[in-house]
Parts: sequence; structure tokens; C-alpha cells
Amino acid sequence: MSVLITGIGELTTNSEVTGDALVIDGSEIAWVGNADKAPAADEQVDVEGRAVLPGWVDSHTHLVFAGDRTAEFGARMAGKPYTAGGIAVTVNATRAATDEELAAVLRRHIAEALKQGTTFIETKTGYGLNVADEVRSARIAAEQADEVTFLGAHLVPPGEDADTYVDLVRGEMLDAVAPLVRWADVFCEKGAFDYDQSKAVLQAAAAKGLGLRVHGNQLGEGPGVRLAVELGAASVDHCTYLSSADVDALASSDTVATLLPACDLSTRQSLPPARALLDAGATVALASNCNPGSSYTSSMAFCVTTAVLQMRMSVEEAVWAATAGGAQALRRTDVGVIRPGARADLHVLDAPSITHLAYRPGVPLTHSVWRRGERAN
Ligand SMILES: [Zn+2]
Repeated sequence: MSVLITGIGELTTNSEVTGDALVIDGSEIAWVGNADKAPAADEQVDVEGRAVLPGWVDSHTHLVFAGDRTAEFGARMAGKPYTAGGIAVTVNATRAATDEELAAVLRRHIAEALKQGTTFIETKTGYGLNVADEVRSARIAAEQADEVTFLGAHLVPPGEDADTYVDLVRGEMLDAVAPLVRWADVFCEKGAFDYDQSKAVLQAAAAKGLGLRVHGNQLGEGPGVRLAVELGAASVDHCTYLSSADVDALASSDTVATLLPACDLSTRQSLPPARALLDAGATVALASNCNPGSSYTSSMAFCVTTAVLQMRMSVEEAVWAATAGGAQALRRTDVGVIRPGARADLHVLDAPSITHLAYRPGVPLTHSVWRRGERAN
């Protein structure tokens, strides 16, 4: 089954190909170019001058959870500070939930994201924090998400000794979860795991063949970025507080700086120094960090709008960061891009250009979405 899409007002490909038309064949893009040269296809869709871009690649979410943290959010907006400890609330609810309940929460949020143009999504464990609950979180995530990350080192469970818990995470827990995931991640932050503990977990994960990611520099300058670059992590996420040495280290590495502006807004932190990172030559991704505690949005468009209006990124930079940047943070070359051979993940805007994502903040601009060559809405 092939589909020719014509009438594209502005085509963002993140690749060398250009045009006003493209052909989807099965689950892949087969051709991109000008409509007058288009090959025959089984079906034709005219998007009537709308902008087309790759589907959002959301490279950072925490969607295997149960429970609700509305009250904590409300209290925070009333002036109570954010701490890493709130995660424990979600851990208790997640442990108490059935597999079906967890799968349903994940399904609902992936569907919500897809409707808004997110066609590729990473999600993490990290609300189980014991062997059995981390394993089932990974299993449930792997059934639905495009990429899965093991985040046993999200928080030391309340009442447990940190070093004993780190030994569990890098030992028995990692052994049990590793076959189900591609990535391992650590929350390297004051109140969570320090440099040595984080490094021990990540090195054990690397020895198991997992790719590395780090939550770092969210609540203050800390060792997260340094550790991520040192270990060749694919991404270090948050990067809200960076020293100039951190910026330089990212700029001269393959580690993507994944910025999570919805989280910074929802915790009333500063926004990350995107301009400094880009000007230094670092690779920047944008992701939602969708989770019930610190960033309860699945809207990549909101992240893009914020990056443009408040973080001094250009529209083109922000859209790249939320598509190709996310793909690079997950070391994928088949998504976040429109070119022959890439996954047919398309986002059609109800607007003539991507500029409208920031020009019309808050307005839902998703017209239609294709995922793996299938019309999703
Ligand atoms: Zn996170």
C-alpha cells in the first residue's frame, strides 16, 4: 500500500531532500520530491498547503506509573519547593497497581501524545525500585514504547541504605531488567545519587551492553554532565544549571544535551541555557519528561513553543531538537527525519509553516499524524 502526499506548503525533512510531495510505501518513506515528478501510488492525499514535518521524537518520559500528584503540584505552585523525594509517592502507588492498570496508564498517555504528533516515544522504569516491580515496569514499557530505559537508580527507596540499594541496582536488578531494555539511566542529583554511585550503576549497565543516559544538573550544578560525557552517554537530560566547563564538555562530545523545559516550568526552576549550548556547538534535544510529578505534559509542541519564546532558540532549531535531536539522543537514524528509507512518521500542521508553532502559542496545530505509514488521526 503506497500513498502519495501532495500540496505540502512547507516540508521540513531534517535531511538533504526537499520538495512539496512524498510517497509512503508500507511503513517507510519511499520518495521525496516535487509533485510533477512523483511516482504513481495507490492513494493520493492533498494536504492543501499545510506544513509537514517529522513526527515528534519524545526521548524522555516516565509513563509506567500509577497514582496522582495533583495536590503536590498545587502545593508547589503555592510556594512549596520541589525535591526529588516526591518520587516516592508515585513508587508506592505504582507498586500497588496491577499490571493491567499500569499498561492502561501507559497506553492512554502514548495515545494522547500521538494525537499531538508524537510518533516515537521513549519511556523509563523507575517507579518500581525493587527487582520485581522494575522488571514488570520494563516488561510493560517494552510492550508499548519505542525505546525503554532502566531507571532503577531513580531514588533510594525511603528507609533503605543508599550503598546497599546501589549494589542491588547494579547487580540483581540490572541482571533481571537488562534483557528487556536498551538503555540505563541514573538520577545523578543531590537527594538522589552522587557521582560515585551513579558511575557504578552506569558502568555495570555498560558492561551488560546497555546504552547510557543520565538525569543531571536539574536542581543545581552537579556532576551529572561531567559523568555523562566521561562515560560516553547518548544523552544527559535536564541541563538546567550548567557551568561553562559543562557547556564546553558537551560541545566537544557526542552526548546530546536533552532539555526539558516543561519540567523546569512545572518546578519553577530557571529555563536551561539552550543558547549557550547551541552557540558552543553542543547538540540539543527537546523532550517532554512527561511524568506525574515534575512535568505532567505530553505536549512536545508546548516544549517547542517554550524553547522559542523563552529559551532563545529559533523555530528551526527547536523543531530540529524535538525531532532529529530526540532521535540523536536515542542514537536512531530512522526517525526524526524525512528521507527515503526513514520510518513514515509524519506530522501535518494545520498551518502553512512550522513558525506557527511559536507564532500561535497554545493553539493546537496538529492536523493529522502518520505513524509507521499509517494514518493515526
Ligand atoms: Zn526524567
